[in-house]
Amino acid sequence: MNTEIYNEKKKGSLMNTKTFFLIFTLFLSINTYAWQQHIAYRIQATLNDSSKTIDGTAELMYLNNSPFVLEKLYFHLYPNAYQPGSYLDSKHRSMHYFWMADLKENDAGYCNVNHIEEAGAQPMHYDVDNTLMTVLLNHPLNPGDSLVLKIQFQIKFGKKTDRIKERNGQYVVTQWYPRICVYDDHGGWHLDQHLGSEFYGEFGIYDVEITLAADYVIGATGILTNQNEVLPDSLLAKLDLKRYKKESVDSIKATLPKAKKGETKTWKYHAENVHDFAWAADRKFRIGTTQWENVTIYALAQESNAANWQDAAEVGERVIALYSKHFGRYPYPQMTLADVYQGMEYPMIVMVGGKSPTYNGLFYHEIGHNWFYGAIGSNETAYPALDEGFTTYLTDFALDSLEDVRTYREWDIGWYRKKFYRTNPNFRTATIKHAIRTSKTGFEEKVLTHSDHCQDWGSYRHVAYTKPAATLHQLQGVLGDSVFFKVMRTYFDRWKFRHPYPEDFQKVAQEVSGRDLSWFFEQWWNSTKTCDYAISGLSNKKLAGGEYETEIRLKRQGEIYMPIDLELTLADNSRLRYTIPINEESKQVKGIEVLPKWIGWNNWQKTYQTKLKLPQKVKSAVIDPDLRMLDVNYLNNRSGCFPKIELQWDNLVEKYVPLDAYLLLYRPGFWYNDRDGLKTGLHFNGGYLGNYNTSGDYALTADIWYGIMSQKIHHQATFQTSIFRPERLMTLVLKNSVLEGRQTAAAGVEKSIRRRLSTFQRLDFKLYFKHYELFDPAYLFEPWEKGEVNLIELATVFRLEQRWLQSEWQLRYQSTSFMTDFIFDKIVLEFKETWNRWCNWKTRFRLFLGASEGSLPLQEQFYLATASPIESFQNSWYRSKGTLPSQWHANAHLQSGGGGNLRGYLDQNVGGKRIVAANLQLNIYNPFRLIKFPRFFNFIQWIQPCLFYDIGDVMHGNWNLDLKSDAGLGLNWKLPFIPPRLEPVIIRFEFPVFVSHPIPGEEKFKFRWLMGIGMVF
Ligand SMILES: [Zn+2]
Repeated sequence: MNTEIYNEKKKGSLMNTKTFFLIFTLFLSINTYAWQQHIAYRIQATLNDSSKTIDGTAELMYLNNSPFVLEKLYFHLYPNAYQPGSYLDSKHRSMHYFWMADLKENDAGYCNVNHIEEAGAQPMHYDVDNTLMTVLLNHPLNPGDSLVLKIQFQIKFGKKTDRIKERNGQYVVTQWYPRICVYDDHGGWHLDQHLGSEFYGEFGIYDVEITLAADYVIGATGILTNQNEVLPDSLLAKLDLKRYKKESVDSIKATLPKAKKGETKTWKYHAENVHDFAWAADRKFRIGTTQWENVTIYALAQESNAANWQDAAEVGERVIALYSKHFGRYPYPQMTLADVYQGMEYPMIVMVGGKSPTYNGLFYHEIGHNWFYGAIGSNETAYPALDEGFTTYLTDFALDSLEDVRTYREWDIGWYRKKFYRTNPNFRTATIKHAIRTSKTGFEEKVLTHSDHCQDWGSYRHVAYTKPAATLHQLQGVLGDSVFFKVMRTYFDRWKFRHPYPEDFQKVAQEVSGRDLSWFFEQWWNSTKTCDYAISGLSNKKLAGGEYETEIRLKRQGEIYMPIDLELTLADNSRLRYTIPINEESKQVKGIEVLPKWIGWNNWQKTYQTKLKLPQKVKSAVIDPDLRMLDVNYLNNRSGCFPKIELQWDNLVEKYVPLDAYLLLYRPGFWYNDRDGLKTGLHFNGGYLGNYNTSGDYALTADIWYGIMSQKIHHQATFQTSIFRPERLMTLVLKNSVLEGRQTAAAGVEKSIRRRLSTFQRLDFKLYFKHYELFDPAYLFEPWEKGEVNLIELATVFRLEQRWLQSEWQLRYQSTSFMTDFIFDKIVLEFKETWNRWCNWKTRFRLFLGASEGSLPLQEQFYLATASPIESFQNSWYRSKGTLPSQWHANAHLQSGGGGNLRGYLDQNVGGKRIVAANLQLNIYNPFRLIKFPRFFNFIQWIQPCLFYDIGDVMHGNWNLDLKSDAGLGLNWKLPFIPPRLEPVIIRFEFPVFVSHPIPGEEKFKFRWLMGIGMVF
């Protein structure tokens, strides 16, 4: 930093202070709200391309509008978060996120403060604690007084920085300079260390001068005041985004001015009523512009994306016009959309990646933040819902207003998915559904949770984005559109350039609507209670005059109470709408009849009934037909015995989960075994509000099979659902099958103990009653005794995940009970551990101990080399003869992983009543990865070679061990192109070349091979 230049500038800045005072004294005299501090920044920054640093001087004028004397000022030094050992690093480690853990000192990002002085050149004492700096004032700052201080700083773009980033010559410079912390009338100083999520800033004026190599193009907060110097019209015309679509890019490039080495330009910006200043610089930015009223919209696209960014400025214009109409006028003179690597919002500039038209949604979101974050400068660190939640609502609103939900989502899906594609009726429903799904887990946190205090990212998404947005959709339903938009506009106009808190929004909503809404905000923002209404009865009675008396009975199953929209469908399919209010202030929507009110919450007055006189019979009734409530179970919102069922072809890739219907997926199945021959069948997957991996409530998996050769019909079905709400309490599981010669039935409960949804340790308990019986031995290829087995099973599983280590303990106890042909007790302990500290080569270890008493049938025994037949029955590949080549089994080349797993003993596999075994497997490097293969042979690179060692013994009576061992090499190959919804298929070949106890006559070292499907353990 050149101090001479600085001293020259100082005069100018003090002049500015006076103007600044004047403006705000005027401003303060007309406002009736609490005090708010005011600031003015003058920043000079020089970007050093080679060292990836910025040297800067920030001159801050601070006006103390508070009634308190200040002795210290505090600043955020955000870039310091991106160094090992920072608070952010430490917090991330606690969440098992180790992205900065191995960062070298030299690659760390930072914001170093070199010197601070008060105007008048007195140096000041300051103290830095990671991302927070305390500055001791030389004199206390009295109410109404101001001071000017000058900070010299340097920032570094680290290798692992977020938001402040250098990538391929593009600089994203946000959260960079020492930024004054907020001191407000809501608790004074807000001194949050930067932990990666939200921000909070003081409003004021920014004058920023950025010096960098002359050929860069910049987009930034504010108005470019020296455009004629740095971006004259002649250059602007050359950089016009529109040209980069039609003309050959090379011919245009030739006309661009070349910067000489060392030549720089200084870009000067001025911004008012903003709480932050951000910029992005790129030599390859091409510029699109458009105008909405007196607002200029710039699109800065990287040259390589120019063809895909042609409509960016227009997309911006469209959504600014939309938001301005419904939520208050866009309050700034310009808006820049910069093409960078991720979505981020800053005043007057948003950073957006992607391409047309799928980037529209991201534009709508980030631009929406200029209302809720930019102009409404709420404390988003403490209340992320006030910016992310409101902006997510705006995003849904823009998407629903400007896009077609179906075609928008179809842009990036393939022809196969498109063929079967179904989606939500609108974007709003998608958000509401997301919120409901998280609420249903029973692990949700309150909407008003501090952004840094959320238990994990899933919870943060829920409290910051999804649930508050969904509650605004709900509030819109409660208030009606026109009142709701008036609430939003009033809130915006009243609080723009200020720091509102949640209660301020509530006050505006109550004032504008003229209704007490405390019940709404208390329940939805300040509690994790759930809402579940049901129709419990509907009956019609014909009256003497030909009219009908209809009785409708409702039930409130959740704790939350809400006004209800009720829709009745009459015999002639005409529909009638009613509303059931919760208090005196009924819903005032024209044309909707109001039924008697329903007061009650928690366990008080859980039922409601009303009688209506109607000219026709009522066929059906439905609660909340618009799907606006966060009702955790829409299946019971409809009259009748059965819920709505959505039958969908299971395309294995894409599924649409409806909010108000039970989803039943079906697809054909084909299989083979020697007894049935080719089997054909249908596979069903059902559930309510499941996600990608789980089927959700009332989950059903069922198959029905027909064996072409055996002419037998088989089936299997598993039904599973939570028996107490919320979901985390307990799951009921019911199973039944008649399948390939064996019939089984099971009933049980499972309980998972965990502290939060995503957790690194988890304990599960299971209790089952199980039954099975063999009825047709023709399917078998392993020993199995005829007879009925009935048993009680108790199991517990403990899983622990650490950075380099994952372990799982499983303890299972079985005891045969009533009406059984075999009496035995059996206990099994299995311990599995995966360790990948060393070169990322996974080392896997397994310990298997089993003991039994009584008459253990053959299929239940412990086997030295393989899983027991009863375990193999669970795996369709090993269930019956012929699915995998019988020849391989006969010649001892087919191994089902499990049991003692001593792979070398497949040709002398024995079963027993007790077992001790340990297996060790080390994944090694695949040398073929170094070779470049032609396209269809590159699967060779996906093969995972490993070394293994197994040791153990099986005993019949006493624990007299004669330990056997084997060792060898294995190859695991995960089949490509298996759709994500199906189980992955891993084919493995193993070569146990060493066996300690070979078959008499064989050498210990010998070529042996076996194959299997699925990992051994
Ligand atoms: Zn956002």
